[in-house]
Amino acid sequence: MPLSNDSGVSLARIKEDFPVFHEYPGLVYLDNAATTHKPDTVINALVSFYTRENSNVHRAVHRLAERATVLFEDARRAVADFVNAVPEQVVFTKGTTESLNLLAYSLSLSEEFKTFIAPQFEHHSNFVPWQQMSRRFGREFIPLEINGAELELDTLERVISNRKNGFVLAVSGLTNSTGFKLPIRQVVDMVHKSGGIIVIDGAQLIPHEPFDFEDSMVDFLAFSAHKMLGPTGIGALVGKRELLERLPPFAFGGEMIDRVDLHDTTFASIPQKFEAGTPNIAGATGFLAAIDYLNGLNRTIVAEHIERLTSLCHEELSSIPGLRILSPEKSHGIVSFVHESVHPHDLAEFLSQNFDVAIRSGHHCAQPQMKGLGIRSSCRASFYIYNTVEDVEVLAKGIRNAVRWFG
Ligand code: PLP
Repeated sequence: MPLSNDSGVSLARIKEDFPVFHEYPGLVYLDNAATTHKPDTVINALVSFYTRENSNVHRAVHRLAERATVLFEDARRAVADFVNAVPEQVVFTKGTTESLNLLAYSLSLSEEFKTFIAPQFEHHSNFVPWQQMSRRFGREFIPLEINGAELELDTLERVISNRKNGFVLAVSGLTNSTGFKLPIRQVVDMVHKSGGIIVIDGAQLIPHEPFDFEDSMVDFLAFSAHKMLGPTGIGALVGKRELLERLPPFAFGGEMIDRVDLHDTTFASIPQKFEAGTPNIAGATGFLAAIDYLNGLNRTIVAEHIERLTSLCHEELSSIPGLRILSPEKSHGIVSFVHESVHPHDLAEFLSQNFDVAIRSGHHCAQPQMKGLGIRSSCRASFYIYNTVEDVEVLAKGIRNAVRWFG
């Protein structure tokens, strides 16, 4: 199958759109789960905003302010369309972490939800807020036990069935530590049947495959622009309208109010109710450009391309003696591994210094998951649209060399 996007541009040439690969032609960048690189259209959007539109939004009536407001709301519309939601359902945040903190705090203030549940494999951003808000507000917190890298539906069923009170399940659509993909539809049905609501941490999932918020029946979805070609410092919280309307705001200040009196305040409607202060306007224009770039690709072919690289990586790495793959056999975009005789940090440093390969080593902000796997840290290779078969081959060659060197 030709690896091409809708306009016929070869995926193999995608690297040309990314200035970082002109700067460092030999770079094999496999740390995409941490953050992705930016195409020139995204970089240009940021420069263009500060050059031509820079102004605050939703306030003044002068020309620049009006242009900035239109751009900002265009970005919201693009984010909404990208996941099939409506603009009122999209709250701009700093990123996934802030989206999840906002939710954990606001849901803690509601008497409706007495229990928060998060699997052991979650990124700290989707674990610590629920754990800490439970402690602060006297809610029950249940860390769901994980054997290996996958959530077993029987374990989930045991925990959520017969609950007397409303609960929240906060779970990743795709885990960052191993690339386990959640069977979302099944889990959503189970949660709703038991009277709970579901929050999907989409930080890894949304960059990788088309997602239909409306059709998914998910209650809340969080993701970050920087993991899908956009700038850092901006992301989104998407929620069901009636839930967003019921939730109290998280932060107070300018632009989130309706009317302020000396002793009380009423709040703006959604989504402004959750956007106190000057937002990341330039970031929103970059987010818009990133979505435009992704929309210009045939996303099914891109997803298949990444799947192919992931399974090639499994194949190559599983033939290296002493190397243990921690990811599920069918992981998505991510392969995590350890070697019995080389420390993950030594391996990552060797790969960078000798092969210009960038992978992540460490606990991947998922210490409870590392504990469950019986390790303290691991190596992680993660793929995105500009990676190639050669990138996987250089990674495998580099690891073999490292094993010989350290062995
Ligand atoms: N959730 C997952 C699954 C992640 O992979 C990450 C970042 O790696 C986050 C949450 C936090 O995202 P951010 O740092 O953009 O807020």
